[in-house]
Amino acid sequence: MNRYNLNENSKARKVFRVLGPILLGVGVLLTIAGFFSLFSGALETFFLGFIGLPVVFVGLSFTSLGYMGAMARYSASQTAPVAKDVTNYMIDNTTDSVAHMAGAVVKEVKGATPQVACRHCGEVAHAGALFCDNCGKPLATLCPKCHAENDQNARFCQKCGEPL
Ligand SMILES: [Zn+2]
Ligand SMILES: [Zn+2]
Repeated sequence: MNRYNLNENSKARKVFRVLGPILLGVGVLLTIAGFFSLFSGALETFFLGFIGLPVVFVGLSFTSLGYMGAMARYSASQTAPVAKDVTNYMIDNTTDSVAHMAGAVVKEVKGATPQVACRHCGEVAHAGALFCDNCGKPLATLCPKCHAENDQNARFCQKCGEPL
């Protein structure tokens, strides 16, 4: 299109603007006639549909060529704010996602520290805790012999081997 000068371009555009809708209309009519013949059983006019569809296509091409500049301007003015909204929306969502991900990572790291569930109430406490912060019962089992702290589920003292 760049090889046309402005005058020729606008002339061609005028032709396209007139011819396009005419071809489009004729093509649609032919296509309708063709399909109508298909349903009515008058198959001798069905070929009209085969002519009509390409004519519709050519008509659409001419119309879009003729109105391309106007349509491009229109769609640009229409899509620009939408694109901006979408971008903002995506940025917002991305920020949220990143925050969520960061939170998940932090939770993951926290979760990685050893935890122990209170056998009395089920409350999860950190492994180092000696008493449950929910029910106050001891989380560790003290060895009756050497008084070493053992895991509440330990069966033998980790220090002296005494059965717990
Ligand atoms: Zn407890
Ligand atoms: Zn012991």
